Amino acid sequence: MTPAASAACRKPRSSAAGIRPRRAAAAIAVAVAATVAVLVATVASAAVAAPVQRPFVLMISIDGLKPEAVLDAADHGLALPNLRRFLVEGAHARSVRGVLPSLTYPSHVSLLTGAAPARHGVYANTTFDPLDRNDRGWYWYAEDVRVPTLWDAATAAGLTTANVYWPVSVGAHITWNLPQIWRRGTDDDLKLQRALSTPGLDRALGAGLAPYPGGMQETVADDEIRAQYAMRLLESKHPDFMTVYLTGLDTAQHHSGPFSAAANATLERLDAVVGRLRAAALRAAPGRALVCVVSDHGFARVEHDVNLLAAFHEAGLVRTDPSGKIVDWDATPWPAGGSAAVMLAHPEDSATRARVASLLARLAADPANGIARVLDADELARSGGFPGATYLVAFREGYETGLALDGPLVTAPANAGMHGYPPDDPAMRATFLIAGPGVPAGLDLGDIDMRRIAPTIAAALRVRLAGAELAAIDWSHPGG
Ligand SMILES: [Zn+2]
Repeated sequence: MTPAASAACRKPRSSAAGIRPRRAAAAIAVAVAATVAVLVATVASAAVAAPVQRPFVLMISIDGLKPEAVLDAADHGLALPNLRRFLVEGAHARSVRGVLPSLTYPSHVSLLTGAAPARHGVYANTTFDPLDRNDRGWYWYAEDVRVPTLWDAATAAGLTTANVYWPVSVGAHITWNLPQIWRRGTDDDLKLQRALSTPGLDRALGAGLAPYPGGMQETVADDEIRAQYAMRLLESKHPDFMTVYLTGLDTAQHHSGPFSAAANATLERLDAVVGRLRAAALRAAPGRALVCVVSDHGFARVEHDVNLLAAFHEAGLVRTDPSGKIVDWDATPWPAGGSAAVMLAHPEDSATRARVASLLARLAADPANGIARVLDADELARSGGFPGATYLVAFREGYETGLALDGPLVTAPANAGMHGYPPDDPAMRATFLIAGPGVPAGLDLGDIDMRRIAPTIAAALRVRLAGAELAAIDWSHPGG
């Protein structure tokens, strides 16, 4: 695929630049203190713990995997023997309620921290870029994460970690890291990716394999190649904790919608990938391999783009020069797929806030614009998303945030499928499957909050995750 197609389909591009709060120094001091405390506590508890082997934990993400794809596979014409094995051999959630926004990057950080985006610091896929200065940059960098991740907690406890392509992994505390990064989709992306990886790792693992894919190569075929590298990594390095990210299903669902023929064919190939990864884990760590499969969000079909930016431009809230470049703004949307945050240059400016409220009320009053509801800052604060935003526009299924600066408000969609709708939308529910030592076979966990997954993995690794907002799943009282 072309870089432009890739950016458009799986990556709603940001309209612009830079007002993200950065409270790095204080947050890092807290995080360091917390990780030291975890280390001390872990060493202390290890001294008295029974000599039970620590598990090897493999955490696999299938981007955009809807829970019903596995639970009701036959109804969707899917044969997923490896994923369905988890239903019999381990525990599973009927559904996972995700975070706001239900986008890939914020969700993957919640999966690793147990915290909501407002707390962990990755608010969307793209950084806020109202003047389009950051070349459509995403939140690639782990330094934006303000609470400890599972990688941090494992590292602080003296464990080794490995990663293949999990989001927000550039510069993370990972022993063997193949992070996710891209810029323009040229061959230079591969050099950048290599420079940000553990030195020499992809070449050391890659003898006889296809070249390790670049960050805009996100088909199922690329997942299959990355999985080969992941298997070599776990077999040769024997990490204690490993994350692997598979993105082909998300790509297919953006192109052709959930449960399309192409998406189903992709998922069946990913099922085989999961089978191979799990088998490799069981071989590498016999009797102590804990394998979980997660997803970050569900998916919904899309029929319309709603170009909020064009409405803000027309209203004079976003201003351009004669060439059409945005040069100034008072209020602008921050696209998030099935929703969009609305940012004010000066949030205390009540006159602008009133203009924006009036504009949004007018847009929402026409059902043809597909706006389900507009959340204000108080509602956003309770939702755990977009802490700097004044409003959030949540679309109905079938509508997504378009990116046009001019022209009609409602246009043909850039994607056939999208996510980013509020997490209470049942179509946005995500997946959690887990099997291994200590996990009851055949256990149905019902509906769980995504923020419980990271502390549950931390408990398995016997490390404490300081920023987790909810308790780990207790396998003896899973409802608690
Ligand atoms: Zn995703």
